[in-house]
Amino acid sequence: MVTTSFGSIPEKKASDVYKIKTIVIDAGHGGQDYGCNGKNSYEKNVALSIALKLGSLIQQKYPDIKVIYTRKTDVFVELYERAAIANRNNADLFICIHCNANPSTSPYGSETYVMGLHKTEANLNVAKRENDVILMENDYSQHYDGFDPNNPASHIIFSLNQHAYMDQSILFASKVEHYLENEAGRSSRGVKQAGFLVLWKTAMPSVLIETGFLTNANEEKFLASGDGQDKIAECISKAFTDYKVAMENTSAPAANAIKTAGTGDNHSTATVSGSEVNYQVQFYTDTESLKPDNQKFSALKNEQISSSNENGVFKYRIGPYVSLDEAIKKQSSARNAGFKDAFVIAFSNGKRISLEEAKALAAGN
Ligand SMILES: [Zn+2]
Repeated sequence: MVTTSFGSIPEKKASDVYKIKTIVIDAGHGGQDYGCNGKNSYEKNVALSIALKLGSLIQQKYPDIKVIYTRKTDVFVELYERAAIANRNNADLFICIHCNANPSTSPYGSETYVMGLHKTEANLNVAKRENDVILMENDYSQHYDGFDPNNPASHIIFSLNQHAYMDQSILFASKVEHYLENEAGRSSRGVKQAGFLVLWKTAMPSVLIETGFLTNANEEKFLASGDGQDKIAECISKAFTDYKVAMENTSAPAANAIKTAGTGDNHSTATVSGSEVNYQVQFYTDTESLKPDNQKFSALKNEQISSSNENGVFKYRIGPYVSLDEAIKKQSSARNAGFKDAFVIAFSNGKRISLEEAKALAAGN
């Protein structure tokens, strides 16, 4: 158990077959924190309605899954407590529901965020607006490791925190955006990254969905209506079904399966002649294509860096290595270089296999 100010983070056993058992649905804002608003509606109310509808859809479809809400009524819940609820309950997925706002009334559309470094000022501003809520909390400076929402530099440094469950978070986020666009008639603004305090210390895949802009008159009408909220909840629940199927259908060991399952990740560009089984270390994931000589990777410049593009998610790897021992050493050095969730993956004749299969093959079984 790792104990942090966000509560205990339970460790998952590598031998378990991965199954989604618990999800936490987080309706943004609440109580004295109204969030943003349109002409006739407040974010806290719209977010709560969608969250409750989503939870009941998932509960109906999967009675065995425990659905936990960070709030079910109009109450104030601190951001750190929302994350702590998910961690304490060993949740498998954390879904935050919000509505967007803009000084201009023209922007509209949905966007789903995962924790990471923002690529644009606009994305940073969304995170800033959502993080500013902590100014309403007592003793906020004690709960966020000195993070100061009034200091612009604090947002930048904080955004550099790479979330350990980036792959799965992006996988779920992309499915949410897919359904919102194709089944709810929303305009998808895409999957994005920014530093959200509520996602920061969650020990599981987590996303923050900006379901649409309350500051846009048409979108507010949709978001504030029962029908619109039903459609959005329906889309997120469909995304959850896809995600569940992808995550649970894997033969890889859980520790790695949790990081890589469901992304069709069975093709590698690397080949090693004369060696049937080989290994690589996957050390970084991004929604952007980066060159191997990118400065981000400078600590690994002596390694051969390759990448693969799976549905717009770029995975960066070093290797290949012929022995597992060597790959594990490289995994340590990648982690020491700041890529904290680098992990070893195995291939047989260029096809992705689990580490257990690789060990069996290497032992001649
Ligand atoms: Zn919000």
